[in-house]
Amino acid sequence: MMNSAQAPTIDIEPIRQQALLTPPAKPLSEAERQALFARLKRLLKEKDAVLVAHYYTDDDLQQLADETGGCVSDSLEMARFGHDHPAGTIVVAGVRFMGETAKILNPEKRVLMPTLQAECSLDLSCPADRFSAFCDQYPDRTVVVYANTSAEVKARADWVVTSSIATKVVQHLHEKGEKIIWAPDRYLGDYVQKVTGADMVLWQGACIVHDEFKAAELRKLHEKHPGAAVLVHPESPADVIEQADVVGSTTQLINAVHNLPNETFIVATDRGIFYKMHEAAPDKKLIEAPTGGIGASCGSCAHCPWMAMNGLQNLADSLEQGTNEIHVDPEIGRQARVSVQRMIDFAAELKTGAIGESNIASPA
Ligand code: SF4
Repeated sequence: MMNSAQAPTIDIEPIRQQALLTPPAKPLSEAERQALFARLKRLLKEKDAVLVAHYYTDDDLQQLADETGGCVSDSLEMARFGHDHPAGTIVVAGVRFMGETAKILNPEKRVLMPTLQAECSLDLSCPADRFSAFCDQYPDRTVVVYANTSAEVKARADWVVTSSIATKVVQHLHEKGEKIIWAPDRYLGDYVQKVTGADMVLWQGACIVHDEFKAAELRKLHEKHPGAAVLVHPESPADVIEQADVVGSTTQLINAVHNLPNETFIVATDRGIFYKMHEAAPDKKLIEAPTGGIGASCGSCAHCPWMAMNGLQNLADSLEQGTNEIHVDPEIGRQARVSVQRMIDFAAELKTGAIGESNIASPA
């Protein structure tokens, strides 16, 4: 769709290089692992804390969250769970914007993270001052941003969305005649634009993990496994999305493994999700979608280097010492909460039928 607005160019390469320097959590022996599990179970109780972990974190963190009454989910559900849980401290295993989202929705609670160095390339590629200046140029457009953004960018937005609801929100706005500024992921934005036909100007950020999936190699892999269903997260490039049997958010992809009759799945998203996919369907075979591969151009190889910074050891240290606390400026938090809450209310209205879904495009 033609429009007069154009987002500025973003150079992802320096962010990719920054990610390459990111140290993963230290590997543990089995004895260290067992000792940390025991210590963390004690600490979570003593500190009145609950662990919420993202699907892309290490299996140990997901297991610990499950075993201690926490939650393993996507970023929004993580924040919502923390809100509903009675614990006074939420420990977020994930990347920084997830900790911030938890704080935005739970300003009265303490939010800790195993590390404050875990970034996200989408967040980094959308600096608040530059983005805000861009939005100021197009006051006639509704600003819709993905959850993978800083608190300041969320505060500047009219809506915050996750991948599970992005298409529905944009379709809703499009039907009301609204034109949109979308940020920061260009691939997800492009996908949403194609599905809805909305007038969207796309910020040019990218996820360095999903950006690595390769269409030609995926085609060859699928030829070797013709019975496999291809599951693709919409942060992936368009020529990868085109080959998908299911395009969806992390939760939607896990559900697809459980619900589809296929025995084998080729999965184009972070391989951390395999932990929950195996749990949902233990007998099914999961294959990573091809990336550039080690030794080629691949800097992430289907695993987020920032998610990999989270481990049992730094989680225990943070909880014991009360370090790595997330702070969000109260006024920024208040403004950001409005745009996050708008999405939560919209999702609730979809569920109750207060907003009709019949004419809202499905993501897959
Ligand atoms: S996988 Fe991509 S979108 Fe998710 S946190 Fe890592 S860099 Fe950000």
